[in-house]
Order: sequence, then structure tokens, then C-alpha cells
Amino acid sequence: TINFSAGPAILPHDVLKQAQSELLNWHQTGCSVMELSHRGKDFEQCALEATQDLRELLNIPENYHILFLQGGARSQFAGVPLNILSNHTSADYIISGYWSKCAADEAEKYCQVNRINVKTVHEEKIGIKSFNQWQLTSDSAYVHYCPNETIEGLAIFDDPQFNDRIIVADFSSCILSKPIDVTRYGIIYAGAQKNIGPSGVTIVIVREDLLGKAKRELPSVLDYTIQTKHDSMFNTPPTFAWYMSGLVFKWLKQLGGLTIMEQRNRSKAQMLYQYIDQSDFYSNNIATENRSIMNVPFVCAHEEFDTMFVAEAAQHGIIGVKGHRIVGGIRASIYNAMDLDGVQCLIEFMKEFERVKG
Ligand code: PLP
Repeated sequence: TINFSAGPAILPHDVLKQAQSELLNWHQTGCSVMELSHRGKDFEQCALEATQDLRELLNIPENYHILFLQGGARSQFAGVPLNILSNHTSADYIISGYWSKCAADEAEKYCQVNRINVKTVHEEKIGIKSFNQWQLTSDSAYVHYCPNETIEGLAIFDDPQFNDRIIVADFSSCILSKPIDVTRYGIIYAGAQKNIGPSGVTIVIVREDLLGKAKRELPSVLDYTIQTKHDSMFNTPPTFAWYMSGLVFKWLKQLGGLTIMEQRNRSKAQMLYQYIDQSDFYSNNIATENRSIMNVPFVCAHEEFDTMFVAEAAQHGIIGVKGHRIVGGIRASIYNAMDLDGVQCLIEFMKEFERVKG
């Protein structure tokens, strides 16, 4: 089976194999890692190594804290404003698709949200305005955006260049897909279940100077300052997901890090987009420079073929390609763990489907 699901997504096969081999007896403890105290020295070491490996992979400076929390990316839709609004009454939300809109909707419970639409449509292709055309307001607490809209397959690749603003980014579906300049951000957060590990862990990377500003009513588990003080163990952390994330970080380091990962991801995406573009049967509606290298949505020439495609693909062992319910169509998610052969198999199936139906 080749799984193109948008999340929870496939994990690297080598990582699953290793987890399987040590599932019942981890590090000669005679127990599964899931059964051990998060305060024991074995797990503490595991947690520390995962944190350090992530720091190394993303080149995260020492003045940023790395948290392994629970609640998913959506919990951070509330966590962000409640942690850093401080005395401000408003925040800027860049709207580029479904997830950035959801973040804005949640934030609106806590502050005035300035919604800034950055989408463009040119010759029926959807794109994103360049940073200098983003009409930010001057007195808002921060600017929130989503660099990879998982549902639409719409991406903003460059790190934002706003020196005087606190940038908050939801990296759920593109973290670790390429190197980024962390110093450009105040807060980066991501649900794990695409490029990091199993669902259940949420990564928050927060700059030191943003701590200590939380609203009194913020639940303690979401409070970055409290969680930093407790090394993400204020409450019992998702230990198994944290351990698995650590294995994924080691796998990424072994492969050569994020520059290599980016080349791999770009090759996979290019192969798929090239096939879509040369075909009269399939199409993708995103402007070339904003095409996601993680999520590739497309449609067939006639809508009724989309459903058939999903069903017939499953019969060929290709699963998880149904487009999100709000946009329909087909979507192939090709996160870090998907290899070139997997994408090649999908293309072979697409060719055959087009030959029969086209
Ligand atoms: N943000 C983005 C960009 C996503 O892709 C998703 C889930 O797919 C979420 C947020 C929501 O994540 P969670 O289910 O972990 O709350």
C-alpha cells in the first residue's frame, strides 16, 4: 500500500522498523518506552536528544525554546493570542486558505483580528501576493500566517522579511521539508502528524522575549512560560509520540539534513506537477511559484472521474488521495517519508487511468 494521506501521514519505513524492534524492550529497560515515567532518566535523555536534534536540524538559536505539547495545531490557534497579545487588542492574520482562516476565527475570540487577504487570481491560477504587498496594520501584536495551506496545496516558500514585526507561523504541513531561517519568526508551531511523527505531539518554537506575557485566563498547559520552566513536562507529555519524533529527527540527520530533504521533496513534486501539466486530463489550479511541495491537489477533466479515480486507486494499493471535503477533487500528499518510487507509482496509475477514461 502506498499512502498519500494528508495526515496522519506515513512515517519513514526505517523508523517504524526500529520502533517495532524495540517496542517491548526499549534500551534494555525490559519495558516499552510507552510504559516508562517521563521523569525517569531514560526517557529524560530520549526527550533531550530529540529536542537537541530538532534544534540542530532547523538551526534553532539558543534564544528560542522548543516545546513538545499536546492539543494539536488547533490548540495553538488559541495558545498564540493568549500567550503574546499582552496589552495589544488586535493581531494581523494573513488569509491564504482554509487553515489560516481557521486560525483567524479562533483568535477572534480573544482579540480584534485584521484579516489580510493575500491571494491573487491570474489566468485562473491562484497565487500569493509578494510580501511588500501585504497590507499590515501598524499597531497589531503580531502577524500570523500559514506557509503551506494543506488543503489548497498553496505555499509561501520564502521566510517573511518584516524586521519590526513578530511573525507567527503555522508550519504544520511543511516543517522540516526544507531549511528555514528561524530568526525571522517569533513563534513557529506545528502538529506532528505529517513530517514529524505520530499525532499527539505539537511542536512550539518560541523566542525567549515572548515569554512572560500570557493572559491570566490562559490554561496553564498552554502557557509557554510554564511549559518552558518544566521542559514541556508540566503535565504528562505524549511520551510515545515524542520518542517517535526523535527517531524521525535521527532519520533526517542520517539522510543529510534539510537541504537534502528539500532537494528530494522538490524532485518528487516536480515530477508530479510536470506530469499533471503535460496532460489534458488532469489539472492543478495553483500558480507555479506557489505550488506546495507537500500537498498536490488536482482534478480530472470531468468531476465524476475524481470519485472513480479515488476508488480505483485504492484497488491498486494507492490510498489517501481523496481531496479534502471542502474542495473535493484529488490530493496527493508527498511529505518527507514519501520516496520518489512512491510518486512514480502514482504517476503510472494516473497514466493508466487517463488512458482508459480520457
Ligand atoms: N494547520 C494546518 C496547516 C494543518 O494542515 C492542520 C491539519 O491538517 C491543522 C492546522 C490542524 O492540526 P491539528 O489537527 O493537529 O489541530
